[in-house]
Amino acid sequence: MTMINDLVGEFNLITRDIFGSGFIPLHRPVFLGNERQYLVDCIDSNFVSSVGAKVTEMEQRVAAFTGAKFAVATVNGTAALHIALQVAGVARGDEVISQALTFVATCNAVSYSGGIPVFIDVDKDTMGLSPTALKQFLESHAEMRTTGAWNKGTGRRIAACVPMHTFGMPCRIAEIAEICAEWSIPLVEDTAESLGSFVAGKHTGTFGQSATFSFNGNKIVTAGGGGMIITNSEEVARLAKHLTTTAKVPHPYEFVHDSIGYNYRMPNLNAALGCAQMEMLDAILSVKADLALQWESFFENRKVKFVKPIADCKVNHWLNAIVLDNAAERDEFLKKTNEQDIMTRPIWCLMNRLEMFKDCQTDCLENSQWLQDRVVNIPSSVPDGALKKV
Ligand SMILES: *Cc1c(COP(=O)(O)O)cnc(C)c1O
Repeated sequence: MTMINDLVGEFNLITRDIFGSGFIPLHRPVFLGNERQYLVDCIDSNFVSSVGAKVTEMEQRVAAFTGAKFAVATVNGTAALHIALQVAGVARGDEVISQALTFVATCNAVSYSGGIPVFIDVDKDTMGLSPTALKQFLESHAEMRTTGAWNKGTGRRIAACVPMHTFGMPCRIAEIAEICAEWSIPLVEDTAESLGSFVAGKHTGTFGQSATFSFNGNKIVTAGGGGMIITNSEEVARLAKHLTTTAKVPHPYEFVHDSIGYNYRMPNLNAALGCAQMEMLDAILSVKADLALQWESFFENRKVKFVKPIADCKVNHWLNAIVLDNAAERDEFLKKTNEQDIMTRPIWCLMNRLEMFKDCQTDCLENSQWLQDRVVNIPSSVPDGALKKV
């Protein structure tokens, strides 16, 4: 373990050099724009709840930034994914293909819509759903019927596919989109971590029917809490808006609701914070790109693998990650760095290991397991002083 000891010593020095003293979190928000002003304006306007100009503005900002035609604001990213899946047609007893290596919210949203996750392996380099594994799974387990793709083994319909762009690194989304189209499986991208990440000039989340962002406090920009569904389909956007706003039939004063809807609209207060953060997004992305370069050269000089995007991607560098040689080294690195008040974190426990998803169908998950044993996230916040107050 001397190698890890040496590495931790140098890691401690560079972390203190970049982030200063005291406890160093993995990712903290920065409020150097119009956050305070917009919050005060919002309170003064009396529109603090789920109706207000900032909610609409937030939708327009996200649509403009991502190039999607429509955006529907929600109360958080999990709610956004729940509704996106419901709009995609996921109903009780349907299967939804996703990855075992993801944050639990992806699978919780599948469950809220009555779906049952099926866990397919990820690619080692992207840490996101593998098109090769997806194709293999469908070819050996699925059949096409007039109603879409069905799982021959379980007798269930495969109603959607939800890849996730891990830590902002795009997965091979164009290939996944092609396979989904071939099998008539609606593609819903979980882009909670990839705002600011593009593939071949196209923003992640614009490759399928819809995609969902999160504006939680730990994401690249925050609304305190919030989410967003983006889509190029007017019908998907209309239905998503309807379901997230109690499914109320538009009328000046009467209360008629035409289905079971949800109170999932983003409050104007959160949108006010979110709009100010969206104004800062480009500046934040630029600082994070510099930080990632710094980490990259530090680790590559020490023969430690630093996770980089695949070709033709522009990434947001939301959370930087390294790949250590084995689980023992990972554990040693995590223990020693956290003891020194520098937050580092392993990747998530695979979803099929969690009690509620332990009976879900999986493929071999070889790469997922390999990554789970080795990946560590390192501090990725905008350093103090790196961004100027506007
Ligand atoms: C953060 C996150 C979500 C959920 O977002 P919330 O706004 O916290 O509900 C969903 N999926 C992934 C991959 C995430 O990282």
